[in-house]
Amino acid sequence: MILGIDIGGTNIKFGVVTEDYQLVKSWSIPTLSHRDIAEIIDDMIEKAREIQAEYHFDRIGIGTPGDIDSERGICHRAGNLPYNQTPLAAMIRDALNVPTCIANDATAALYGELYAGAGKAYQNIIMLTLGTGVGGGIAINGKPYLGSKGYGGELGHMIIHYDGLPCPCGLRGCYEQYASVTALVRQIKEAIAAHPDSLLAKIGGESPSARDVFSAKEQGCPVADAVLEQYTRYIAIGINSYEAIFQPEAFIIGGAISQQDENLLAPIREKMRKPNTLLTSSLKNDAGMIGAAVVATVFLQ
Ligand SMILES: [Zn+2]
Repeated sequence: MILGIDIGGTNIKFGVVTEDYQLVKSWSIPTLSHRDIAEIIDDMIEKAREIQAEYHFDRIGIGTPGDIDSERGICHRAGNLPYNQTPLAAMIRDALNVPTCIANDATAALYGELYAGAGKAYQNIIMLTLGTGVGGGIAINGKPYLGSKGYGGELGHMIIHYDGLPCPCGLRGCYEQYASVTALVRQIKEAIAAHPDSLLAKIGGESPSARDVFSAKEQGCPVADAVLEQYTRYIAIGINSYEAIFQPEAFIIGGAISQQDENLLAPIREKMRKPNTLLTSSLKNDAGMIGAAVVATVFLQ
């Protein structure tokens, strides 16, 4: 068995996964990312040791946000975690005495879909994980394309608006500033401020979520419909560009919002310039852990 660890800005998820990538059991601990990185890693080691007392796993895969050097096992930096050239793979391996490898979380999710999910039937796919940002993954001939230094493929930082909204990466107008779930929530808030009497405003209240806009639209709210029209137009802008550049066999949309399935996909599909296969992640919430387990298998072979 394999231990797959999915590090996020809010929670760290641990999953014991079988050799054919079935999730046996999972656990979650809070990241508390304002702390020193050593404290965060100590908590991870403690949880992994607890799991090790109960389950036998012979390798560990970790997916984490940031610029990750998988070959050397080093986390250079991340927007929402205090990495500073952190040798994460060696720290976990030495503490648990189990071979360990790490990868960027979007790369791990892509591996998960390629080996165990919606991408199994394809060799060339583009995966977009919509969340706090837009995680990207490009698979060419069955392998993730990671660029010359190992952390390329950042599809969320393609610029779609000249001089547009500032992005934490230092550029302006990045795709993720318009197509992430964070961006959708901002767009919902703007619509609520402009239409305080709408059904969307009633459902969303002070702190609306992405789910609220889908349920308001379902109940016939024209404001919610307009928000989703605009949001799916933004998503389609990126997909149309990637179609022209990569001509993949399929696009896969991941992240919690992908649970909306056709409510999300149908309006994107209408806006695609060329017909292509558009799917949601089949691993859903487990994609990070299962993807990390696949990373362990592929990298430690
Ligand atoms: Zn950016």
